Amino acid sequence: MKTNMGFKKQMSELAYVLAMEVFMGKVDLHVHTTFSDGNLSPWEVVEKGYNKKLQALGITDHDTMQGISGAQTAGRKFGIEIIPGFEFSTDYEGNELHILGYYCKQDNINLIEMLNTVKSSRFDRMVAMVEKIKKLGLKIDLSDILNTVKGDIFGRPHLAAVLCQKGYCKSSREAFERYIGKGCPAYVERFKVNTFEGIDMIVRAGGIPVLAHPGIYGADEMIPSLKNGGLSGIEVFHPDHDLDAIFRYKKIASDYNLIITGGSDFHGEEIGSASQLGNVTVGYSCVEKMKSIQKTLQ
Ligand code: AMP
Ligand code: FE
Ligand code: FE
Ligand code: ZN
Repeated sequence: MKTNMGFKKQMSELAYVLAMEVFMGKVDLHVHTTFSDGNLSPWEVVEKGYNKKLQALGITDHDTMQGISGAQTAGRKFGIEIIPGFEFSTDYEGNELHILGYYCKQDNINLIEMLNTVKSSRFDRMVAMVEKIKKLGLKIDLSDILNTVKGDIFGRPHLAAVLCQKGYCKSSREAFERYIGKGCPAYVERFKVNTFEGIDMIVRAGGIPVLAHPGIYGADEMIPSLKNGGLSGIEVFHPDHDLDAIFRYKKIASDYNLIITGGSDFHGEEIGSASQLGNVTVGYSCVEKMKSIQKTLQ
């Protein structure tokens, strides 16, 4: 019986690998850099993409588009197309929902103002979280965070990195579980734009809104209302999606006429999940679909 289960597991893993071979292409549409909580600069990320023979990379830092121009400079040098994007942390009925926004006009004033509001709220929250950590008796200081953050988006992974450096935690995961995850002693809320407002802002900035990693929310029933709110795509391929999730979201994408996207959600070699750049990719046809929608918006 045991052998049989092992065989079944092996077969399903093999099916997964084969399915990924069929689906995958050379475009990674979900990548973080040092402009948010990634640990490689835009240039380093693009160079890595070149080494992995990727055709295009979507730069999707949390709540900022500031890493895009550096990535584009590197993209010209390495011959990789850069898809401009960002990952908007939004609020859906009290839960955090990530919306990827591709091809937004970077000079859209409403979007710039909103991202500035989010940025300062992230900083204020970091100050408050550091205070809470100090009250718990841990010896860390805001200057430790300032030395770690390379861009101007302050994220909990930066605090997790400092907690690890100081020996208070062994991993980022442990830092989230003990101190900074939702409901933990040093957790502090921050401002997030309402999901529908966020989608609308992306559309008004000429961009394509895509629901990031739907598998982690466990709330597929919200997808039709997001589509009604202007959602154009859904991230079917993501390291947190197993084969069941991939097939479920492919079906949802076809039922609701949503573009299928995907990417590795790469944050760097050491940060977050073990996902490596280019581990999850889609074909270039996905980029072509986004471009054709974008043309109709202009
Ligand atoms: P923030 O945007 O500052 O609230 O931080 C959220 C980010 O932290 C996510 O985008 C992930 O990169 C990372 N993250 C969330 N949960 C965990 C976890 N349990 N372990 C490690 N990293 C996490
Ligand atoms: Fe992140
Ligand atoms: Fe995300
Ligand atoms: Zn991400």
